[in-house]
Amino acid sequence: MLAPFTAGWQSNDVHPLGSYVYDINGNKYLDSLAGLWCTALGGSEPRLVKAATDQLNKLPFYHSFWNRTTKPTLDLADDLLSMFTASKMGKAFFTNSGSEANDSHMLCSLRRVATIDTIYVALTVIRHSHLQRITKNCFTLCYVKLVWYYNNALGRPNKKKFIARSKAYHGSTLISASLTGLPALHQKFDLPAPFVLHTDCPHYWRFHLPGETEEEFATRLAKNLEDLILKEGPETIAAFIAEPVMGAGGVIPPPKTYFDKVQAVVKKYDILFIVDEVITAFGRLGTMFGSDMYNIKPDLVTLAKALSSAYVPIGATLVSPEIAAVVDSQSNKLGSFAHGFTYSGHPVACAVAIEALKIYRERNIPDHVKQIAPRFQEGTKAFAGSPIVGEIRGVGLILGTEFANNKSRDDPFPAEWGVGAIFGQECQKRGMLVRVAGDSIMMSPPLTMTPGEVDENNSSLSGGNNAPERTLF
Ligand code: PLP
Repeated sequence: MLAPFTAGWQSNDVHPLGSYVYDINGNKYLDSLAGLWCTALGGSEPRLVKAATDQLNKLPFYHSFWNRTTKPTLDLADDLLSMFTASKMGKAFFTNSGSEANDSHMLCSLRRVATIDTIYVALTVIRHSHLQRITKNCFTLCYVKLVWYYNNALGRPNKKKFIARSKAYHGSTLISASLTGLPALHQKFDLPAPFVLHTDCPHYWRFHLPGETEEEFATRLAKNLEDLILKEGPETIAAFIAEPVMGAGGVIPPPKTYFDKVQAVVKKYDILFIVDEVITAFGRLGTMFGSDMYNIKPDLVTLAKALSSAYVPIGATLVSPEIAAVVDSQSNKLGSFAHGFTYSGHPVACAVAIEALKIYRERNIPDHVKQIAPRFQEGTKAFAGSPIVGEIRGVGLILGTEFANNKSRDDPFPAEWGVGAIFGQECQKRGMLVRVAGDSIMMSPPLTMTPGEVDENNSSLSGGNNAPERTLF
């Protein structure tokens, strides 16, 4: 197969069990990245398997086009809308991935969002009582073209640009890769698209000026954002998108006061705030959503990964009632738009996601994360004094380590030394899988990790059981 983000051809057969995976040769690894930041409930949660099996036996598939949908799809929309409380959300739209969810925001934001006034459902799998809920909570797919026409009807046809941030990761489709702020996703792909602009990466350690405090750094970044908006013309900017903690860009938590300041700027110019919670949702930071941790009050929310603990592909966008209401009021002027995916709101994916959400609540996963996070964070930060460690940063169960010569951000190791890659290989030898990007390594283990597994994670870094008796740092 051609493996995504892989140089060359490779097959790596791994079998998961709880917080561990086994390769084809039976070697056991602590999965310190939870697959790809996603198997939040570990690799062998029987309740999720049962939820999928039960749904497969009941109704393996029906689509969600033309105002038709299935009960699990509606139930999941209800669940998500009541669970996300940082700001009120009005409707959910389902996708198969985080990238598609972000692309769907683009549609929502560029064209606004509509619901329709009358719904006719001629399908026996949908009970009559569900009809109201379709209009209430769940976008069906004919909305989007309505939205396109409507936004033009708003008389703001130029308000279509997006501002994302350098080093952000929002996916790899054309639009979400454009939003992404990593050069590798742009080079040779003719990206980013011209309607996407990038503002500063909020990485204090790397980008602060001499003597600048975190708060001052945040103020400067908010001012740069405002300057960019004014330069482009506020009437041209539709939305700003941000991850609460940057993930694939290197695990970068925001500097103090950052989100308060950028939210004030965005609001001032009537620009929508999209929070990309694909990694941070469902307890990763020790709060149910990253928005709760940083007091973010978004207009739109992107979800994926832990939404089903990655057992089946599903993503979602949540949209504020204000956006939905604007569209509702105009819906009688609109036609339809061909946006949507065959598997949007797939009943099996939705049934698994509903069960995953139940487990996050029942087991109080955010609290569990809060309890074990200090052990996890401090275990790695014990190496912060090493001369090859520039910075170790993280929150909850997500952590990044950046290597630098003599701890200096201005003295990187030569790229050809592959310091990050060497570190990743050493971790693997010690029975632990981490994410490597340049001279950074990242960890984002299952949220169900036990204290014992956290200790094992830390001991792998300092020598490990089945590896050379020496620290990695
Ligand atoms: N947004 C964020 C913050 C992500 O980390 C990712 C994937 O890692 C995506 C979006 C894209 O999700 P997907 O790979 O499911 O398309």
